[in-house]
Amino acid sequence: MDHEEFRRIGKETVDYIADYLETVQTRPVYPGVQPGYLRRLIPGEAPQDPEAWEDVFADVERVIMPGVTHWHSPDFHAYFAPGNSYPSQLGDMLCNALGCVGFSWAASPACTELESVVLDWLGKMLHLPEHLLAGTAGAGGGVIQGTASEAILVAMLSARTKVIRREQQASPESCDHDVMKKLVAYTSDQAHSCVDKAAMIAAVKLRKLPTDSDFSLRGSTLSAAIEEDKANGLIPFFCCATLGTTPSCAFDKLLEIGPVCSKEGMWLHIDAAYAGSAFICPEYRPLLDGVEFADSFNLNPHKWLRVNFDCSTMWVRNRADVVDAFNVDPLYLRHDNQGLVTDYRHWQIPLGRRFRSLKLWFVLRMFGVKGLQQYIRKHVSLAKEFESLVLSDDRFEVSAKVVMGLVCFRLKGSNSLSERLLQKINETRKIFMVPAKLRDTYVIRFAICAATTESSDIVHAWNVIREQADGVLTGIQN
Ligand code: PLP
Repeated sequence: MDHEEFRRIGKETVDYIADYLETVQTRPVYPGVQPGYLRRLIPGEAPQDPEAWEDVFADVERVIMPGVTHWHSPDFHAYFAPGNSYPSQLGDMLCNALGCVGFSWAASPACTELESVVLDWLGKMLHLPEHLLAGTAGAGGGVIQGTASEAILVAMLSARTKVIRREQQASPESCDHDVMKKLVAYTSDQAHSCVDKAAMIAAVKLRKLPTDSDFSLRGSTLSAAIEEDKANGLIPFFCCATLGTTPSCAFDKLLEIGPVCSKEGMWLHIDAAYAGSAFICPEYRPLLDGVEFADSFNLNPHKWLRVNFDCSTMWVRNRADVVDAFNVDPLYLRHDNQGLVTDYRHWQIPLGRRFRSLKLWFVLRMFGVKGLQQYIRKHVSLAKEFESLVLSDDRFEVSAKVVMGLVCFRLKGSNSLSERLLQKINETRKIFMVPAKLRDTYVIRFAICAATTESSDIVHAWNVIREQADGVLTGIQN
């Protein structure tokens, strides 16, 4: 494909994308294919000779689309909101075109510098404490990780290195392994499974602590667990608090947890993967009070801030803590300004990194703070609208407080009723939702996801739910 051909085909592809997103709701939101469907549709080997673009592109509708779950359809209500917008897509196009791999400042100075500045912008929108921002002379700063899972892993590994060094200073005869086998991390029983995964990779114990009736982790619960573990000779070193848990969007009590972590010299990480974006609205910012205790904090603009996957923003109090944990420095990666500038390869697991700040920058500029606040508020108000519909039908109950764009609900009665209901709903392929367990209770999660979701889509979804509930409940009676 030469430049001229790319110009022509590229424009056609942009048209295809705009058509797709404009008409996405005409497609069933969930695919009807069976496992292994795709292997039957394409050859088992790559072609020896080049193929024409027209043939390749025709396979998008024939091979790909039948197996796509349409995350940006207003009928998609699963997981959490996925970010999407044209400014973000354009940022990604440009990122791909520049194709730089910004592992060091020298690898592409704009890639590093824009990321630091844009993370300061977003940090200021969130009213993060000054010490988490890079500014011009701060010890902290922001970085874009691919996912919240990576952010949490980076935080946990950094905390592990820090505590190992501290313990070895106190007992120089102890080796890494002596310390590691005593380390214990904490999170709530509502935290995302990526915290478990981080602990597996870091090879440290993780205690998942019980939450209160609102599914929030309390400081007293953390304190009690720490005391017990210290009495057993363990070393508490890390706590991951969640703001906006995955099952029900609950909020841990940061103002209680923060002082406990400070007193114990533990690293506090805050995972606000989904809900964090809402803190750009002054009315939700109080939920972030206590962030001043945090050593690190992450949120996913690729969830709720109009940025396409992948873009998980992370801020750290002391970048030296992270750099110390990940600093490898072969000659071929060094440059003349080494030590004077940020080299993001020391802040993450992989070496290579994309120019992801471009899409975030485009989004912040083209929506403005006000546009993004409006978007968050609209999602929350649609969730409240759905909550009212659920509450208006006495066969149903709402299972957790509705604070953001997520409603957990169920049919009153046994878990199996709601399980059956969700199965019937998803079989229609008219809307798509996923379940969660809140302790022993099975709930259906209704998330406001697409940027284009309107009130009429909420009514449509509720009609599908009610209709299927009629069938499930009639089936039970007969
Ligand atoms: N933390 C929370 C609270 C989440 O809800 C999720 C995903 O939904 C994650 C972490 C994991 O996110 P990622 O896919 O960016 O690793």
